[in-house]
Amino acid sequence: EKVIVTGGAGFIGSHMVDYIVVKSLANKIVVIDNFSSGSIKNVEHHIGKDYFELINADLKSFESKWVDVFKDADAVFHFAANPEVRISSTDPRIHFNENIVATFNVLEAARKFDVTTHFFASSSTVYGDADKIPTPEDHALKPISVYGASKAACEMLYYSYSHLYGFNVAIGRYANIIGYRSNHGVIIDFINKLRKNPNILEILGDGTQRKSYLHVSDAVEATAIITLYAKERKGYHVFNIGNDDWITVKEIADITVNEMELKNVQYKYILVTPDGRGWPGDVKLMLLDITKIKSLTSWRPKLSSKDAVRKTVREILGKEKF
Ligand code: NAD
Repeated sequence: EKVIVTGGAGFIGSHMVDYIVVKSLANKIVVIDNFSSGSIKNVEHHIGKDYFELINADLKSFESKWVDVFKDADAVFHFAANPEVRISSTDPRIHFNENIVATFNVLEAARKFDVTTHFFASSSTVYGDADKIPTPEDHALKPISVYGASKAACEMLYYSYSHLYGFNVAIGRYANIIGYRSNHGVIIDFINKLRKNPNILEILGDGTQRKSYLHVSDAVEATAIITLYAKERKGYHVFNIGNDDWITVKEIADITVNEMELKNVQYKYILVTPDGRGWPGDVKLMLLDITKIKSLTSWRPKLSSKDAVRKTVREILGKEKF
C-alpha cells in the first residue's frame, strides 16, 4: 500500500504520517510539501527510512516532480492548504490559489494515474454562522470567510470527480484541531503573547466566542476511519469531525494562564467587529453534530474540548509529552 500525504510536514499532516506508521496502514508514505507553513522538524524522525519519501514541491504548479509519484499510489490524504482563516479578510487570493488551485491539481494528478481513494481536510467554516447548533452535515453551506468558501469549493470538486471518475472520497469537516506542532490558532497565540508580556493578555473579540476543539490524536484517528469507510463503501462521504462539547475563548485564556502558572493577568479585549468576533469572517459559535460519524463508525473523541485545550497547552509548554 502506497499513500500520499500532501501537507505532510504540517501540523495535522505530520500526525497523520505518524499514525499511518504506528498502525502500519501503508508500507510507503510520500509526503509532498512546500514548507510554506510546515517544518522539516515535524517529519525528521522518518527521514532515511525505507517507507518514507519527502518531496519538496508546490502543488499550485502541475509539475512531474510531484505529479509522477501518484503512479501506483493507493490513497491520497490532502492536507496542504493555507489554514489561516484570518488572512482571507485581507488577502482572499491566497485561499483561492493555495486551496482551490492546489486541490484541483491534486485531483488531476490522481485522475492521471487513476488513484481513487481520497481524504480531503475540510472545515467547519463551510457552514458559516449556522442556523442549527450542533450543526449536522446536511446543513446549508454558507461560508462567511473566503477560507470557508474555498473549502466548500474543493468539496464540490471532489464530488464531481467522484461522480465522473469513480473516486471514493471521505470529506472530513474538522472542528478546531489542536495539539503539539500546531503553529497557528488561539492557543499558540496566547502562549506567545504571555511569554512576551505576562501581565496583559490581548484577546481578539469579546471572549465569548464559543467553539469546539478536538485534539489532533483524535482527529487523525477519525480521518483514517472515515477514509477506510469511503474506500469500502465507495462513493462520496462527508463527515463532521469534532467534539461533543465546546468552550469559550475566555475559558481557553483561563486554562493557558493557569498552566503557565501566572497570576494577576489582565485581559484586554480587542473589539474588531461590533458583535465581538475575533476578526471579520470569524464564526462566533461552532459546534458540529457528530452523530453521523458516531453512528456509522466506532470512532469517539477521547478528550473533551477542555481536556484537549489543557493537554495542548501542556504539550506546547513541554510539561507533557505528546
Ligand atoms: P499546516 O499549515 O500546519 O499544514 C499545511 C501544510 O501544507 C504545511 O506543511 C504547508 O507547508 C503545506 N502547504 C501549503 N500550501 C502548499 C502548497 N501549495 N504546496 C505544497 N504544500 C503546501 O495546517 P494544519 O492545521 O495542519 O491544517 C491541515 C489541513 O487541515 C488544512 O487543509 C487546513 O485547512 C485543514 N483544517 C485545519 C484545521 C485546524 O484547526 N488546524 C481545521 C479545519 C481544517
